[in-house]
Amino acid sequence: MISRIDLRGTFSAGSSGAGIDPDLLPRAELDVEAALETVRPICDDVHHRGSAALIDYAQRFDGCTLERIRVPESELARALEELDPKVRAALEESVRRARIVHREQRRTDSTVQVVPGGTVTERWVPVERVGLYVPGGRAVYPSSVVMNVVPAQEAGVGSLAVASPPQAGFDGLPHPTILAACALLGVDEVYAAGGAQAVAMFAHGTEECPAVQLVTGPGNIYVAAAKRLLKGLIGIDSEAGPTEIAILADDTAEPAHVAADLISQAEHDVVAAAVLVTPSEALAESVERALKTQVAATRHRERITEALAGRQSGIVLVDDLEHGLAVVDAYAAEHLEIQTADAAGWASRVRNAGAIFVGPYAPVSLGDYCAGSNHVLPTGGCACHSSGLSVQSFLRGIHVVDYTRDALAEVTHHVVALAEAEDLPAHGDALKHRFAADEEQTAET
Ligand code: NAD
Repeated sequence: MISRIDLRGTFSAGSSGAGIDPDLLPRAELDVEAALETVRPICDDVHHRGSAALIDYAQRFDGCTLERIRVPESELARALEELDPKVRAALEESVRRARIVHREQRRTDSTVQVVPGGTVTERWVPVERVGLYVPGGRAVYPSSVVMNVVPAQEAGVGSLAVASPPQAGFDGLPHPTILAACALLGVDEVYAAGGAQAVAMFAHGTEECPAVQLVTGPGNIYVAAAKRLLKGLIGIDSEAGPTEIAILADDTAEPAHVAADLISQAEHDVVAAAVLVTPSEALAESVERALKTQVAATRHRERITEALAGRQSGIVLVDDLEHGLAVVDAYAAEHLEIQTADAAGWASRVRNAGAIFVGPYAPVSLGDYCAGSNHVLPTGGCACHSSGLSVQSFLRGIHVVDYTRDALAEVTHHVVALAEAEDLPAHGDALKHRFAADEEQTAET
């Protein structure tokens, strides 16, 4: 069901993640780069035809006949009224914990005095209007409403719009739990649009949806590809595509827990990645046995079986935990669990991961819903350069430069020297002009 990749003896002790051949690691067949060709015509079409194109794609990809894309506000209120109280309580707790964490992330403006009379202030200013993507293809994700909206609100974003795929079973509206979560958080602008076309709607704007400046949120490979394609026209958080879990474990790990956690993330998507990295052959065998039993008993066994059997999943055998650390660093998983003796010690040495889950009582599912951390995280190796969604994702730091005449005078000769060195003399002249009168006066006296 899940393949084994034996890396024992293939690299020397002390090698860092950067030294490992990425082709040795399990990776999905369909990557974001390949999906770009699929999403390019979709995005162009939305650019040129607006809502008419979105209506066509709703039919083609979601099996829904729509007349308009914007969800009436009355539907949001109705969904909240009809929400199962148990789900409402869970969403409220998820929001409460997320607010505790995200409120602490808000940076305050800071001013540095560089020289007497010369200061640089960094002002943190929220993006004005953002588009938040909430997935809803194979599964629906009200939790992603929380993970998008809470940091945007804590950052002080003024205008928030949510898009989520239309659902055939619900008159072409996004899933009612998603609408209810939006209403719970006070979001009233929601669109029934999914996939690449939703990202294009946000980026280009349509007759129904004014363009946004930043698009955030998780989604499948087509959503991630559209974000990559349209980056620049819009800002993006990260390429938060199909879910990945890597687990670094030794023989102190409980095989049933390791198997359950691999399955929990394979449940997202047939292209979700579930990777165990271990020096223990005994653990590998026990996890393989536990996977067989547990997968057979779970609701989405077909999707999970396909995800576990895919090229992107595997059990990687390594010489020891040092080698394991190098492998997980090279893999740069969206979610990394450490289930070893001294898990905190190993976790502190990890350099590349979207989020790290330490020890036996911090499964990824906790982070998916109720840890307080954000579940919108970089995938496909992007965790080596990108971060998960946070309040910071919605802010821009603006440098405010304030120098007095004397402070400028003091540094002018350095600016002129550098301007000359770059063959950009007008740069130096811009300063010299300010002191030309002084020079004339000195010359006269
Ligand atoms: P989705 O909303 O991301 O995608 C559904 C949409 O995909 C459809 O509406 C359709 O427009 C489009 N689509 C489907 N097949 C297509 C095709 N062949 N060509 C072009 N477009 C197509 O919902 P989903 O499919 O359930 O995927 C959700 C994804 O989000 C999963 O992969 C899950 O692992 C991922 N996820 C990631 C994170 C993260 O932070 N990285 C968090 C949660 C979920």
